[in-house]
Amino acid sequence: MIKEIKIYKGDIIFCESPDKFTTLENGYIITENNKIKETVQELPAEYSDIEILDFSENLIIPGFVDIHLHAPQFENLGLGYDNELLPWLENYTFPEEAKFSDTKYAEEIYKKFIKALYMHGTARSVVFSSLHLESTEILADLFLESGLGAYIGKVNMDRNSPSYLTENYKKSLEETEYFIKKYNKPDSMIKPIITPRFIPTCTPELMDGLSKLSEKYNVPVQSHLSENLSEIEWVKELHKEIETYAGVYNHYKMFGDRPTIMAHCIHNTDDEIKLMKEKGVFVAHCPTSNFNLSSGIAPIRKFLDNNVKVGIGTDIAGGHTISIPETIISAIHASKMYSVYADRTFHSLSISEAFFMATKGGGEFFGKVGSFEKDYEFDALIINDNELSGGSNKTIQERLEKYIYFGAKEDIIKMFVSGKEINRERF
Ligand SMILES: [Zn+2]
Repeated sequence: MIKEIKIYKGDIIFCESPDKFTTLENGYIITENNKIKETVQELPAEYSDIEILDFSENLIIPGFVDIHLHAPQFENLGLGYDNELLPWLENYTFPEEAKFSDTKYAEEIYKKFIKALYMHGTARSVVFSSLHLESTEILADLFLESGLGAYIGKVNMDRNSPSYLTENYKKSLEETEYFIKKYNKPDSMIKPIITPRFIPTCTPELMDGLSKLSEKYNVPVQSHLSENLSEIEWVKELHKEIETYAGVYNHYKMFGDRPTIMAHCIHNTDDEIKLMKEKGVFVAHCPTSNFNLSSGIAPIRKFLDNNVKVGIGTDIAGGHTISIPETIISAIHASKMYSVYADRTFHSLSISEAFFMATKGGGEFFGKVGSFEKDYEFDALIINDNELSGGSNKTIQERLEKYIYFGAKEDIIKMFVSGKEINRERF
């Protein structure tokens, strides 16, 4: 295999661990075949003949990772937040998702959705589609064309849903298996993920079947957990025999038997948190959505203290923005208010902790993604912050803070995903 070496120069910042940033002013990232070989302050002599991709005076940061969002809700951004979760699903989400039986509509919206991810610097995402197979294939194909990385799940729901959005469980399983077989390819930038919408909308037969598919094809799982108090009561009524909401997923072997993401996790019991830790379940923290739908504040400090993995999710369209920087800010705000109003012993999240969650924390679901350490895939954003931070002697960390709080998507001038530059003309 031919070794392709590339060298990127700039003001580099990333988080190896949640507690601090690593920064290199005028540093170098050296990649070999799209993976990072080393990130260094001084360029070793052996590379002196190789041309440098020079982004001096720009920030180089890892591409963002969004581990929970709903592609077919893109048109609903900003709508219906006078509702809480269950009426919001009924009045806004389900009617919009029903439109994705129309493949033309799906293509139009999914193009806009993927462009928005690219524009906002989201290199990787873990996505819910709708229950429609053909539209989900369109979403997967558009992602493949784009060069962005994604897990994509055809949604499954066969009870407690409007008649126009209720599947027959056998057909639901057949279509899910078809989608898995078509897209479960090694080395592909997109992968299938098993996606029961949430417990209330999935019969035991469907859950059983999905669990078997997950095992048979070794495919990960995503769903929702403990977002809203009425939802939790509903799950209790539906599954009286099982003690907790997380316990229901666990009963069906869809709680960490394969890599698993659970969105929200706001109102979990200590036993559930223990189970999450034991089974390596990722929490997708979606603070903008949790504010909009009055769901509550997830106790993220508790997860971190208990070594539960946490990534960031925009959860559009529960969340009103697809921007990860805005969601980072919300995560920090949420933790500050939790600390003031709920539990003074919970320290609020630091900027490095929130940035870690939005890069390496969620990136771990994809493998070695979200950092500039050796052997990581080279996912990077080049950020021109000259106007934002120019003319003053700010540290690299301060420049990143300004970008997150006050920057704009237009400040991102280039994006690389797994070592390949994503071309703006593609969109
Ligand atoms: Zn969601």
